[in-house]
Amino acid sequence: MIETLGVTTRKRIELVDMTEQVRAALRKLRLTSGVIIVYVPHTTAAVTINENADPSVGRDISGVLSRLVPAGADYEHTEGNADAHAKAALVGSSVTIIVEGGELVLGTWQGIFFCEFDGPRNRKVLVKVIAEQ
Ligand code: ZN
Repeated sequence: MIETLGVTTRKRIELVDMTEQVRAALRKLRLTSGVIIVYVPHTTAAVTINENADPSVGRDISGVLSRLVPAGADYEHTEGNADAHAKAALVGSSVTIIVEGGELVLGTWQGIFFCEFDGPRNRKVLVKVIAEQ
């Protein structure tokens, strides 16, 4: 039971709220109780959970990561996307969310963000559920 979701990004660095896509995948996978793993199989993209009520939060996180890991700095990796690899390593490639009563157990202000660091691109996100025994 793995569901593959598609995310199309429009900028080089962008946080895309994919909470509703994950909810739809959860309904399709028919999990009532357990956990859902959202996994990004890319080396220059990531996934995180943070506030999605105010869209400026995602932009601020992008800005902080860009200041921490500037695009034009001196890197050994010569593909031109070394900063994107480092940003992805900082954020991480998966999140695990508790599922109860068929719903994602997220805090009031929490959403699931796909984090693009080398876009724009068409990306894949894998979703796997583990049911409670
Ligand atoms: Zn690279």
